[in-house]
Amino acid sequence: MVNNTGGEMKRFQQYINGCFEDAAFSFESLDPSTEVAWAIMPEARETDIDRAVEAASSALHRSDWAGLTASQRGQLLYKLADLVAENASYLAELETRDTGKIIRETSAQIAYVAEYYRYYAGLADKIQGAQLPIDKPDMDVWLRREPLGVIAAIVPWNSQLFLSAVKIGPALAAGCTMVVKASEFGPAPLLELARLCDQAGFPPGVINFVTGFGPECGSVLTSHAKVDHISFTGGPITAAAVLRNSADNLASSSLELGGKSPFIVFDDADIDSAANAQVAGIFAAAGQSCVAGSRLLVQSGIKKKFLAVLRAKAQAIKIGSPMDMDTEYGPLCTQAQRIKIQSLVDQSVDAGAELICGGVPAEGPGFYYPPTIIDCSKVPKAPAVVHEAFGPVLSVLEFDTEEQALELANDTDYGLASGVFTQNLTRAHRMINGIKAGVVWVNTYRAVSPIAPFGGSGLSGHGREGGLEAALHYTKTKTVWLRTSDEPIPDPFVMR
Ligand code: NDP
Repeated sequence: MVNNTGGEMKRFQQYINGCFEDAAFSFESLDPSTEVAWAIMPEARETDIDRAVEAASSALHRSDWAGLTASQRGQLLYKLADLVAENASYLAELETRDTGKIIRETSAQIAYVAEYYRYYAGLADKIQGAQLPIDKPDMDVWLRREPLGVIAAIVPWNSQLFLSAVKIGPALAAGCTMVVKASEFGPAPLLELARLCDQAGFPPGVINFVTGFGPECGSVLTSHAKVDHISFTGGPITAAAVLRNSADNLASSSLELGGKSPFIVFDDADIDSAANAQVAGIFAAAGQSCVAGSRLLVQSGIKKKFLAVLRAKAQAIKIGSPMDMDTEYGPLCTQAQRIKIQSLVDQSVDAGAELICGGVPAEGPGFYYPPTIIDCSKVPKAPAVVHEAFGPVLSVLEFDTEEQALELANDTDYGLASGVFTQNLTRAHRMINGIKAGVVWVNTYRAVSPIAPFGGSGLSGHGREGGLEAALHYTKTKTVWLRTSDEPIPDPFVMR
């Protein structure tokens, strides 16, 4: 099939029960930097989802998976990590092509993806139960940790390889089976990851990959009776729909949602370093990051100076083709996202906020939107301060005291990430204690590691990804009571 510029389009397939196959329906994926369709994607609907969940359900207890030892599961994950590393440049290129995220970022991020798989490969045989010191001499009591079951993993468009690795790694390490639903936007790298899972040797049905539209594909998956747990990353409105969908089956869930993360700069901060971190926090990935530090709170004494440095850095960002290694900033993933961002900016400016830079979409092909800074000091409840843009829009508020900084930082329904820039150690500790967020970065921002748990509260969701904690989330305990006495059971009418 060819696109409207006469180019041949690449075709991707879904992966169900160890087979690559076309779906009955398909859709075109656009290159966000040119707006030209470049690939045909399989569109999963009810029958595909049903087959994928059935495959995961029957693989869960089948001996070729359930019979593996924990270290054998770890070996499969090591193999997957190696394959991801070997295919890093191809995966990065696919992600850039399909989402518009710059190749510089996708190339660096893929190294982390392999690292996450390695971490969980090593953890597979460290997930253990416990002996319980029960106060009954004729009983041995212990906890077994068993796989939680069939996991539905759903990810948004912005970093599908990374956001799925933090689910796939711990879930497979724990012995679960999975159906992974890629976003309809930019699904290519995840559908390609299916090939690597296949090559790594996971038995058929252990991991299945589909893509399709949220309401049809996503809601069928999350309401499926054989799904035991939903690991969802996306926005809070969709998360609420997911919970409603799963309510009849009482599936458990972990929700990694959005944020409106405060980035707090005190007057003793290293201004250049803080400004670089703020650029990373809001303009890396064109702001399409759940941890975007989208609310700058700056102490009044340095506000003017800090904004001048920040604006100069924002305006010097090299915008261009996402495929070019020199490019620092590419397009947004979709036109809908660009429209939403523009509306947030326009409403804030209409309410009295002052545009410091950006705010006008770029002309020409591609869903480009410039780095945008809006001073909302006169309208602290402006939409750009309150709502997640999931784009390159930084709102600015000022404060005088530490107490005001904390009050503003916590004046949000979200609670995902936060950043504090100060040279004052005791103040840093007070801020760490006071901030309501799942992550606090002090004098740094946007740092990650597979060893460090990550997650939020409030509208940012619940549950944690990363670290040992995440692997334990994919297990359930079974309490075993074994009576060691050969004596007959005494009085049957009392609790033992
Ligand atoms: P959405 O919530 O719209 O979509 C997320 C995923 O859910 C997509 O795969 C989507 O499919 C799917 N989906 C949509 N409707 C349904 C449904 N009814 N039932 C089940 N699944 C459905 O999020 P966005 O795509 O807009 O992503 C941006 C959001 O994700 C932001 O809020 C961002 O902060 C958050 N995010 C959170 C992260 C975290 O770790 N905390 C990391 C990255 C992003 P489709 O795309 O095909 O519609």
